[in-house]
Amino acid sequence: MTDSPRAVVIGAGFGGLALAIRLQTGGYRTTLLEKRDKPGGRAYVYEDKGFTFDAGPTVITDPSALEELFALSGRRMADYVELLPVTPFYRLCWEDGPAFDYLNDQAELERQIAQRNPADVEGYRRFLAYSQAVFEEGYRKLGAVPFLSFRDMARAGPQLARLQAWRSVYAMVSRFVRDEHLRQTLSFHSLLVGGNPFATSSIYTLIHALEREWGVWFPRGGTGALVQGMVTLFEELGGKLELNASVDRIEVEQERVTAVHLADGRRFETDALASNADVMHTYGHLLRGHPRGVGEARRLAGKRFSMSLFVIYFGLDMPPPPGLAHHTVCFGPRYRELIDEIFHAKTLADDFSLYLHAPCVTDPSLAPPGGSAHYVLAPVPHLGNAPIDWAREGPRYRDRILDYLEQHHIPGLREHLVTCRHFTPEDFRDELNAHLGSAFSLEPILTQSAWFRPHNRDDRIENLYLVGAGTHPGAGVPGVIGSAKATAGLMLEGI
Ligand SMILES: Cc1cc2nc3c(=O)[nH]c(=O)nc-3n(C[C@H](O)[C@H](O)[C@H](O)COP(=O)(O)OP(=O)(O)OC[C@H]3O[C@@H](n4cnc5c(N)ncnc54)[C@H](O)[C@@H]3O)c2cc1C
Repeated sequence: MTDSPRAVVIGAGFGGLALAIRLQTGGYRTTLLEKRDKPGGRAYVYEDKGFTFDAGPTVITDPSALEELFALSGRRMADYVELLPVTPFYRLCWEDGPAFDYLNDQAELERQIAQRNPADVEGYRRFLAYSQAVFEEGYRKLGAVPFLSFRDMARAGPQLARLQAWRSVYAMVSRFVRDEHLRQTLSFHSLLVGGNPFATSSIYTLIHALEREWGVWFPRGGTGALVQGMVTLFEELGGKLELNASVDRIEVEQERVTAVHLADGRRFETDALASNADVMHTYGHLLRGHPRGVGEARRLAGKRFSMSLFVIYFGLDMPPPPGLAHHTVCFGPRYRELIDEIFHAKTLADDFSLYLHAPCVTDPSLAPPGGSAHYVLAPVPHLGNAPIDWAREGPRYRDRILDYLEQHHIPGLREHLVTCRHFTPEDFRDELNAHLGSAFSLEPILTQSAWFRPHNRDDRIENLYLVGAGTHPGAGVPGVIGSAKATAGLMLEGI
């Protein structure tokens, strides 16, 4: 093993972890360097007064991609972490109409659709067939394949054209169903990976088929338990995870990475390097001074980045209110206009739409006995669009959101509040090195997808690779796990 090549991965998000596991399994001596005190990246975990709060991903889809990471070395994921099924997948709520339970039961879905608009039942069946076709092409065939040359893109072109990938998610959904709430039900998904349903390619309707195919899951003990399971696997394989290891500079000699330098002065030599850190941070900061870094950072500065999020984590000394679903999407009074402001406005909108996470509905162990852990998030503009002073605005915004939840979903919230903290776009920027505080990196529009996204292998520095939300295929847990497969395929090619 001592003569096998060395690899360094910067960042222990889901993408970095999955790549590190693949590299270590494939024969690299792999070191994973993470700047924070815990692994997970966006899937960090806060613990406070006996409550466990998953900071980010809570909707776990495509368990088969995760299982594959364990199966590579003959192990079973079930021996490391248990995934619990979640139903309904989501409850969708509006202020001006009944809620919709989105679940994996065709008859029940059709019953709810018929109540709204009987003609939409047939439309929904056609939409499902469309999203399944996109899923086959966009996810099964291309989701873990690197797009390094324009030829790769051109090859996918006819399929993309056949699937009308130039249309937006919302426009495509609207061709199938007429009821406005149903249109929102079938189009909001792209927001989960940072995509504006009115601008993102209809390819992202594949998320619907993906959820119908494999279901929605939640790890027992929270998403953090899945992260821990992956870390355990990586370390059992002999990989090294270094926490509190903030990389400050990538050393390059004659277009080859030779080492990375940490902010604390340590230096790690390597034969190959993959960055799971934000793409702008990688080129603009870690490769500052190198012509490739300067040029690529300039190019990326002209790209569109996804919105940010404002997230409140709060614990209550009472169980989740009866009837509350594990995942609730609370649509505000405006849909298209609000989303337009989230992606383009220079200020914070007066209204909001929320996602409310109530994990104790599935796993009460995340709170002290009789209590409940929650988080609620609102999509908000990134700092490049709206340079809001979040130190001032944050507490006000938090109070407005908690008041709304108390009024509509969690009566008695204030009285039972035991702990509360929030995470703002400035925290995405400062804690995660996220450009403009974006929560999902580059916006997944067609002209920033596949070959148009930063490549899994750098075009100039031959042993530099990218993994995670900023490269192909993009954000979301299945996306970054797929990016790890694409990147590992390239890194393991010649060893
Ligand atoms: C609040 C929220 C909720 C979400 N919910 C879902 C969901 O339910 N389902 C879903 O599928 N997706 C969800 N997502 C999206 C998903 O979480 C992300 O797309 C995905 O986790 C990103 O993984 P990544 O591999 O790109 O790495 P990241 O999680 O971005 O991790 C990158 C890591 O690099 C580290 N790093 C950065 N710079 C350095 C440096 N210089 N040196 C060392 N380390 C460095 C960071 O500290 C971080 O740990 C959510 C995202 C957020 C923010």
